[in-house]
Amino acid sequence: MSANPQSLRTTGPEYPLVINGRLVAGAMTLDVINPATGRLLTRCARADKAQLDAAVAAAKLAFLAWSATPIQARRQALLKIAAALEARGAEFARLLTQEQGKPLAAATHEVGGSVAMIRAFAAMDLPVKILRENDSERIVQQRAPLGVVAAITPWNFPLMLLMIKVAPALLAGNTVVAKPAPTTPLTTLLFGELCAPLLPAGVLNIIVDQNDLGGVLTQHPDVVKVAFTGSTATGRKVMASVAGTIKRLTLELGGNDAAIVLDDVDVKDVAAKVFRGAMMNSGQVCLAIKRLYVPDSLYDAMCAELARLADATVVGDGLDAATQMGPLQNKTQFEKVKEFLVDGRTRGKVIAGGMALERDGYFVAPTIVRDIPDDARLVREEQFGPVLPVLRYSSVDDAIARANGTEYGLGGTVWSADSKRAFEVAQQMTSGTVWVNKHLELPPDIPFGGAKQSGFGTEMGQEGLEEFTQSRIINMAK
Ligand code: NAD
Repeated sequence: MSANPQSLRTTGPEYPLVINGRLVAGAMTLDVINPATGRLLTRCARADKAQLDAAVAAAKLAFLAWSATPIQARRQALLKIAAALEARGAEFARLLTQEQGKPLAAATHEVGGSVAMIRAFAAMDLPVKILRENDSERIVQQRAPLGVVAAITPWNFPLMLLMIKVAPALLAGNTVVAKPAPTTPLTTLLFGELCAPLLPAGVLNIIVDQNDLGGVLTQHPDVVKVAFTGSTATGRKVMASVAGTIKRLTLELGGNDAAIVLDDVDVKDVAAKVFRGAMMNSGQVCLAIKRLYVPDSLYDAMCAELARLADATVVGDGLDAATQMGPLQNKTQFEKVKEFLVDGRTRGKVIAGGMALERDGYFVAPTIVRDIPDDARLVREEQFGPVLPVLRYSSVDDAIARANGTEYGLGGTVWSADSKRAFEVAQQMTSGTVWVNKHLELPPDIPFGGAKQSGFGTEMGQEGLEEFTQSRIINMAK
């Protein structure tokens, strides 16, 4: 496949949009804030509706040739993109820390995971299945591409969550219009710029908004599938907006994941793992442990160990090598988490943290709250921040019922020295993924998706690839 010469930028704005293979200035600009300082990091391009329409039109036109391109050539394009991203990994990681806030080591890990995600999809295939073949008939199932896919992503893992959508969409023969969250547009724009010379014009378009174009994109008559990751509240709007044209839809939404600790664990060992599972990315992980259920016999010891770990955590600018936890990603989330801190202080007993830090940027001390009732906001709602409520239970059945007593159903974890016991509990949890004695492991070849109001549809794995296709049955008489 030859590079598209039009995509090579010689002059122009920093962080341009990508429309039809060209790097273009936005109709407007967008201020991007560094969450570690609360101050302007840079400006980037912001699209208006006409630019969104141009991006969709380019994707629609490009679909004709891209969908007819052999999968082997599309695979090669993905592998070139993975190699290019890997080669510029340090640059992407630094930019990711600056726009998102996570420590540089975590950003480096996200970039590496994104490269691995592209390669994992590039290794997959969409073979024709022979469903029946005999003397009188032959029935086969093909996996046809859909058309223009809208990929809409949130701000917690801007690069990784983009790859989970873009890589399978492109491999399957679709074209894409991607829209990042307005507070983390930079790595997505840079990724678009990196891809522009490696893909035919229009195959991957990137537009940026200020939370004003998402609905326009999901309603667009020429978009046939929406792959959305974000909050449950926005997911509801997306679901309503695609009804008019019966678009294919994947919704990866919020979670309020419970971890259940059984009474036979090593407290120190499990506390360290639970702490990581709750506090990673400053708690801004859809699958973070957001409620922890601990038996009476271990409750005091577990609370004390979690508080010790919280007090020992180094919070700071992600670019400082010593930093273990960065800021919250944006001011809105910072204000929201501060409300959860008030709830924790008034409804429960704060034993570590409990306050925002007295410094510039959106920093909150990692917080552990004990003796908090089930009806507190911090227990019922998704806090999406480094504030963990620890809840006491007397019977495992009670813990399971309380863990399941939520409209969410994304993930969950069970911790026990006895894997048989843990498996029994795991089977009763009403969520899309349950980990036993580990957490937050998401291999690219294993399907992932939420239950209940955490969404529907699958990402990753062969199923995640097939979500970007339409089954076509060809039923032939012989
Ligand atoms: P959000 O719903 O506010 O925004 C997500 C994206 O949707 C952004 O790009 C935003 O601009 C866009 N958007 C806003 N309004 C829209 C509309 N009307 N139509 C279409 N798009 C619109 O979510 P967020 O605050 O950026 O992300 C945090 C949430 O995402 C949390 O609830 C978290 O649990 C969830 N999340 C889920 C997963 C998962 O895989 N299930 C992964 C990461 C984050």
